[in-house]
Amino acid sequence: MTPSNAQITPQALQQIHESIITCERCPRLRDYCRGIGETKRRAYQDQTYWARPVPGFGDSRARILILGLAPGAHGANRTGRPFTGDGSGDFMYPVLHELGLASKPCAIDREDGLKLRHTWIASVVRCAPPGDKPLPQEIRNCATHLAAEIQSLPRVRVVVCLGKIAFDGYLAYLLHSGVIARKSEYSFAHGAQYLLPNGLHLLATYHPSLRNTNTGRLNRTMFTRVFLQARELAGFAD
Ligand code: SF4
Repeated sequence: MTPSNAQITPQALQQIHESIITCERCPRLRDYCRGIGETKRRAYQDQTYWARPVPGFGDSRARILILGLAPGAHGANRTGRPFTGDGSGDFMYPVLHELGLASKPCAIDREDGLKLRHTWIASVVRCAPPGDKPLPQEIRNCATHLAAEIQSLPRVRVVVCLGKIAFDGYLAYLLHSGVIARKSEYSFAHGAQYLLPNGLHLLATYHPSLRNTNTGRLNRTMFTRVFLQARELAGFAD
């Protein structure tokens, strides 16, 4: 059971994370993550992969929630922290650092000392999927983890969805929790911005994957603009 906002404690958040880390609801994804952790990429042969579901990370008093798709097979599935040790993180964290939302511009491993300010990072699926493509049922399986984490972050004012799958996953949460009546009023586009009926702001950007950043579909200026907007809407634009 998820505690109400008024009852959130570090212990409650820890409990949510324990339930994520030990989850075995999606056999296909669990097998895939374990297999990747055994075979490894050549550059990481000397490392022990996390190879478990990846909980969110950041400031528990966050006013900005960043929502991604899923751990990278050799990124968060290796390091155990969202966007840590892969190309997406290498693109995103310098921007967060420039805007004062991260203490450092790089994310290497769970012990690198990186702290987020006013910001929490999570994903709609907590296990790396083959080809970065979770099945619809796997996204539904993971929705309870997303809901629990969101409810443990009562100060969030702005949600930034990285890519359409994250955007759709968040809309599903909003529909299920009764915040919105239908999803059709909300369309994914880079730079899209909505004021939700509960007063929160929903922003969207293309996902900072190498597929988008290497091809120029998403560049740093475009990405920074979305986070400048998020920062302003969250009330700390100085
Ligand atoms: S994707 Fe989510 S629901 Fe599925 S096994 Fe991983 S943590 Fe559990």
